[in-house]
Amino acid sequence: MTSILLQEAIDYALTNSLIKFNTKFELVHAPLALAPYRLPSQVYEHLVVLTPLFNQLMLHVALDGDFLTEHLTQASQTDPFIAGLLAIHQETPNTQSLQLMINRNDYLLTQHFGTSEVLPKQVEFNTISASYPFLISRLTRLHQFLFRNHEWGKRLVENDPISGIVAGIAEMVGRYDHPKACLLTIVQLHEQNIFDQRGGEYQLWHQYQIPTIRMTLEEVAEEGFLREGHLIVRDQVAAITYFRAGYTPDDYPSAEAWKARRLIETSSTIDVPNTAMQLAGMKKIQQVLGVPEILRRFVNATTAEQIEATFVGLHLLDEMVENEGLTDSAMTLACRFPSHYVLKPQREGGGNNFYEQEMVEVLKSMDWKERHAYILMERIPALQHPTVLATEGKVQTTSGVSEIGRFGVCLSDGKEILMNQDVGYLVRTKAAAQNEGGVSAGYACLNTLCLDE
Ligand code: ADP
Ligand code: MG
Repeated sequence: MTSILLQEAIDYALTNSLIKFNTKFELVHAPLALAPYRLPSQVYEHLVVLTPLFNQLMLHVALDGDFLTEHLTQASQTDPFIAGLLAIHQETPNTQSLQLMINRNDYLLTQHFGTSEVLPKQVEFNTISASYPFLISRLTRLHQFLFRNHEWGKRLVENDPISGIVAGIAEMVGRYDHPKACLLTIVQLHEQNIFDQRGGEYQLWHQYQIPTIRMTLEEVAEEGFLREGHLIVRDQVAAITYFRAGYTPDDYPSAEAWKARRLIETSSTIDVPNTAMQLAGMKKIQQVLGVPEILRRFVNATTAEQIEATFVGLHLLDEMVENEGLTDSAMTLACRFPSHYVLKPQREGGGNNFYEQEMVEVLKSMDWKERHAYILMERIPALQHPTVLATEGKVQTTSGVSEIGRFGVCLSDGKEILMNQDVGYLVRTKAAAQNEGGVSAGYACLNTLCLDE
């Protein structure tokens, strides 16, 4: 039975561009689950409500340059990537008050101790290169087809984040108002997940007749220039510069790439995200926002309460904390209870965090200066569920954990919010034994949501 289902899923995936390149650069179906993730409907509705609140928070944080400098300077002293971004942020005057956020807030679900109440806990907020909005829109249709004769089919949640994202881009291109306007997508040279990006670009063209130019940062350095403040690339005006790369030091292999980032920031292009917004998405800032008084500097008390109900403990390595009746530095307690914590550097893209014994070794080898570039996060004891995962034609039936991401689109002009919406979800299901959870990094499969009463 599973083999028939698998073949149907693969045929549908290949026919409908649910594809990616694998590490050998062969074209394969995107990793996908063959059973949707079941969720109580009130949890689902709660997550939708939270999205605009988090968007508002992140907008206010990104607008506070002094705050970003205050909390990232120490990390920048041992982390050249943060130092590079912070320098651009500090040295470049703000040339564009319009802002477009295309982000994704990721959660794991956990159970309130001793009750059946299901609680979403935030893993992280992605302000740069929030991926999979196109492929996940396709997967929803794949599951609708696959489970057409099953009760799951009726309860699948409609999901089309790519349409909300493309509409946000089109709206902002309209506001930029230039006859030669295009979308500039910043890409990696060898992108395995190219079809997720291409899908949105084609939709932008078909629905709104807005063309896209794809360039690496080094290509922008070579070909891009400023004219009357506009960023000119290949005889077009980059109304929007959408970073689907630039979140990892690997995307800045030379001084030229950094020069391009500076050029983009200096121009009047609407960058998604600008450097401040990228910095606001750093794990260090997530940790600082865990301090109640600091969170309340950016949102009102009611919003703060809703947001912090999704937080787990986030700590500086030297901070005094309590665990299992012991009070000590977070670092010492992480070495004592390795399974209770995750060690995170200021990186995105998956595969960068440390867990268990490896975390202990890294913590022990760090000098005091390096500690500022990391945070310790409490491990979320995520709910497990049976699942069937299909990767490159192979099926694995296992106990799984699912991470739900909510895509948000927010348009603003300075502090004024013009539009702020939840536009859909991402589910990534991984084997429960796996620590990390990214799809691109090869740990998880795309999935859909099916609501319980
Ligand atoms: P990245 O920016 O690399 O995506 P994340 O913070 O999202 O970093 O962590 C990567 C993965 O590690 C997540 O997708 C999740 O599966 C796992 N993870 C991260 N933080 C926690 C946590 N506090 N508890 C449990 N798992 C976590
Ligand atoms: Mg992540």
